[in-house]
Amino acid sequence: MRIGDIDLHPVADGTFVAAPGYFGTHVGADAHPELFDRDGTAWLPIGCFLVRSGDRVVLVDAGMGPQAEDLPLGMRLLGGQLLTGLRALGVTTADITDVICTHLHTDHVGWLFDLAGTPVFPRATIWFGAGDHAHFVDGSGHMVPHIRKGFLQHTSRLRPIDHNRAVAPGITAQLTPGHTPGHLCVVVSSGQERALLLGDAVTCPVQLDEPTWHSLADVDTALADRTRELLWRELEQPGVVGVGAHFPELRFGRLLRGNGRQWHITP
Ligand SMILES: [Zn+2]
Repeated sequence: MRIGDIDLHPVADGTFVAAPGYFGTHVGADAHPELFDRDGTAWLPIGCFLVRSGDRVVLVDAGMGPQAEDLPLGMRLLGGQLLTGLRALGVTTADITDVICTHLHTDHVGWLFDLAGTPVFPRATIWFGAGDHAHFVDGSGHMVPHIRKGFLQHTSRLRPIDHNRAVAPGITAQLTPGHTPGHLCVVVSSGQERALLLGDAVTCPVQLDEPTWHSLADVDTALADRTRELLWRELEQPGVVGVGAHFPELRFGRLLRGNGRQWHITP
């Protein structure tokens, strides 16, 4: 994907094995056969995005890392492929200048630090919402110990964000709280074009048809619903495409209006 002068590459770190109940107790496995397989499982990617703008090489989200985690309802997160995917694009860990974490859930921070708490991307500045630092690093939000240790030991690299701001030329962090207190979307813009990297503010495009489908991991469900609606409206603007960290195939799409709202995959 190209937005003006800026290159964007989706890179999957692994798989989020999701159950219908992730979207709400009222959601049945037969509701959307395009999403749930014969066993009622949705095999969603754990997505990251490489964004090249000028001399900056920016990674949006840091995946699950080389590990697995079991979740309620038989769901599972399985990571480990991010560095392989970056190498396939000719990018080493030392090339990354910035990592922007849309939020600090385990499947978005896993490659920030190794088991000793040492940064995996040796040159990178790490950007994230300040509200998430309070909730996950300082507070009681779930965070694996070596990632928390990395955050506490490498404070000079950290750039907590408490207002919408530019991170690199053409790359802006936009506060979109609800899924987590400090959730960010990343806006990539060049010329008349704009791409929204939605993180987990939208889990799946199916939520366009199913506005009562939430995310089990939402810290504030009502706020997450309002934020999602605001993002849909942004995605209705001309020249705007978007993709979330768990969208099937990590493909960009745009929101078209006509007979209701429809999600159209960008060719
Ligand atoms: Zn996630």
